[in-house]
Amino acid sequence: MKYLSLASRCWRSLLFLAAICFLVMSATAQPPRPNEMPSVVQVPAEAKASQQFDANAATEAYLAQIPAEKTARSNAYFEGGYWLILWDFVYGVIVALLLLNLRWSARMRDLAERVTRFKPVHTFVYWTEYVVLTYVLGFPLTVYEGYLREHQYGLATQTFGPWMGDQVKETAVNLVLGGILFMVLVGIVRRLRKTWWIWGSAVTIAFFIITALIFPVFITPLFNKVTRLNDPKIVEPILSMARANGIPAKDVFEIDASRQSTRMSANVSGFANTMRITLNDNLLRRGSPEEIQAVMGHEMGHYVLNHIYKSIIFLSIVIVLAFVYIFRSVDWALHRWGEKWRIRGLGDTAVLPLVVLLISILFFVLTPILNTYTRTEEHEADMYGLNTSRQPDGFAQAAIHLGEYRKMSPGPIEEWIFFDHPSGRNRIYDAMRWKSENLKLFTPSQ
Ligand SMILES: [Zn+2]
Repeated sequence: MKYLSLASRCWRSLLFLAAICFLVMSATAQPPRPNEMPSVVQVPAEAKASQQFDANAATEAYLAQIPAEKTARSNAYFEGGYWLILWDFVYGVIVALLLLNLRWSARMRDLAERVTRFKPVHTFVYWTEYVVLTYVLGFPLTVYEGYLREHQYGLATQTFGPWMGDQVKETAVNLVLGGILFMVLVGIVRRLRKTWWIWGSAVTIAFFIITALIFPVFITPLFNKVTRLNDPKIVEPILSMARANGIPAKDVFEIDASRQSTRMSANVSGFANTMRITLNDNLLRRGSPEEIQAVMGHEMGHYVLNHIYKSIIFLSIVIVLAFVYIFRSVDWALHRWGEKWRIRGLGDTAVLPLVVLLISILFFVLTPILNTYTRTEEHEADMYGLNTSRQPDGFAQAAIHLGEYRKMSPGPIEEWIFFDHPSGRNRIYDAMRWKSENLKLFTPSQ
């Protein structure tokens, strides 16, 4: 009887969602309006090499090229993102509390136990119920954040159907990869009552490393097409820069990111033999050759400065801390409310919403620290990129293009809390300061 009412409630929410989908589709039938910055950013007079070159004046002159209405729009987009951090957090907390207090989590566990006697399968069935139910409950926020808002600011290129297709694939990946991790972790917690947090941390760290390795090979192709770039005008300068920096790249790849978005980006992924340089097609289409070189210099900086290994170490520390925190706080919470929620103990799969709730509190509090860690590495890559590409103007142009979806001139505290890359203003200033110290490279010799 209980299950029947849960099923009928799910059915009603699905109908409600179908109605929302219809509204969304009819509301966004018109083609997206892009928020494009000037495509070719000119080098302003103040930023040209001269005896009077001044890094501050050059920075202001670059920023002055951005039309006021574009600044207002990208500020609104980016600042809206601050609130979304809060709303995502609050929404996640409400969903977790609902699952616990209405005992939906306990009922999902009971249902999973009826399906089979085999314990690891219980865990996977529970995980499937959890992923589907939380996806459905979070769907309105996901549509707003990932679809409506992106279209409103001209950053998305997909219509609703293909977007939803990507969502289904993403959820399937989450179901499989997350399911494997969840099954292993539950097994560890059940067998190793005292030391599970140590083994749990080790398994989670290994899981993230393996996922990062297989991602470009198995996951990326589900969403995008990656092809080898053949244009020697683009490929040769990049490979030359790679050779000069001791980077073992033989090819450069292109990814069709424009399928989903108008954002420009590039990356250097993998380590040792699996390392590859990938540019997205938005960068190739809209970036000047100087800009592409500046961006590639930055990406090579990540590689040469071993940011991938350093990030693994940093992430490992965060994971161990998270496990210690879970180890201490779950027991405390179960002691108080475990009976009310009908959760039998830590080895019970129904504990998952509680763990997710506790982890989301931790990561919400850690936001500025995680951002500062990333921003610091990004700054290092910027400096490396300037030194190796010697394209300060290309670098300033890239900063302006990235300003289509990032606030250019935040306050210092705002930057510290919310920015995972240096702000556009700081990046342009870094480039112009570099130029002012290397003016001889830009003045023709007499
Ligand atoms: Zn970077």
